[in-house]
Amino acid sequence: MLYYEDPYKKRIKAKILKKEDGKCLLDRTILYEGGGGQPADRGYIICNGKKESIEHLGELWHRCNCNPGEEIEIELDWDFRYYMMRSHTAEHTFFRFLQERGAELIKIALGEESSIMFKGDIGIEDVLEAEERTRELIKKGIAVKSFRISKEEVENYPELRIKKERIKGKKVRVVNIEGHDLSACKGIHVKNLKEIGDFAVTKFRRGKKKEVKFVVGDKAKEFHYSMSKTLRSAAWGENIEVEKFERVFHNVLMEKEIMSEALKSLSEEMDFEKENCKGVEVAYRIIPGAERKIIVRKMMEFTNSPKRIALFGDSISHSVSCAFSEDMKYLRDLAIETIKKLGGKGGGGDRFISGSTPDEKEFIERIKEEICKNI
Ligand SMILES: [Zn+2]
Repeated sequence: MLYYEDPYKKRIKAKILKKEDGKCLLDRTILYEGGGGQPADRGYIICNGKKESIEHLGELWHRCNCNPGEEIEIELDWDFRYYMMRSHTAEHTFFRFLQERGAELIKIALGEESSIMFKGDIGIEDVLEAEERTRELIKKGIAVKSFRISKEEVENYPELRIKKERIKGKKVRVVNIEGHDLSACKGIHVKNLKEIGDFAVTKFRRGKKKEVKFVVGDKAKEFHYSMSKTLRSAAWGENIEVEKFERVFHNVLMEKEIMSEALKSLSEEMDFEKENCKGVEVAYRIIPGAERKIIVRKMMEFTNSPKRIALFGDSISHSVSCAFSEDMKYLRDLAIETIKKLGGKGGGGDRFISGSTPDEKEFIERIKEEICKNI
């Protein structure tokens, strides 16, 4: 296949040897039929002044509308192919670093944004370090070469990354990133890592099956720049130096956790105030930033006994809620009406409603009044 001999050939003349059911057998091709995680090439066939898209179906058979005897030319969608070649070589370079840290490859899918799925105990630090080292090797400009060995020779290369069960023929094609990685692969690669330009991991999904997504070239440059812009905007927006942002951010998260714990116990411990109206017990309370789950639970517990109503307001989120005992739930619509009259909105079930108003204090006062009138 010409794409192995010269992966940089963009256009060739070829002959149609045979044609069957709209498929042409060509004497040669520059279109990669796909495999090893690399998608099939996109390309064109030109005959009699017509240019149509063409697909390599394998073993030199191509889908085509030209006929035997006609002069044909095959043209590659070079931008797409070259991006794939760079992505594929970047994948080898990057994954070798991850493998050194214990990653086990599951699947590769190259594309505009390529994906590598793998197993193993790999963390954010490992991924970022592998990215950094990949970028260093790209800058250095390491040569990439390929050669073929027989299946028997495989044992002479203990460093070779290979899934033996996937090798079909007698020969194994080895891609060598000099001094860094040896991998059995049928895909198409660049001659020098420099051609990749730049490399960026755009996503890292953790879990049992992990996934990294990446881009190369200008896309990678743009990604690095746009992330740095986001970081600076976030840091400077809060008057924090970029260098200190990570530490400050961690502290904020930690404080948030402490605050949330404090609010939880506050919500748990704070008692509702109580008033009696015509024999009905009305409990009410305003707690800024209360833990909603705990409050709802307390309100439902309180109104489990008859002749009880519970009212609650949060002065930070401006949310309000009311709970009614079974015999008091006829007041539910009145509560929703009152929320609306105060310029808010609310809704919910039979015994529990929630909503928001601009002023939760006013809400508590008004609703106590209204309810008492209507009991
Ligand atoms: Zn490969």
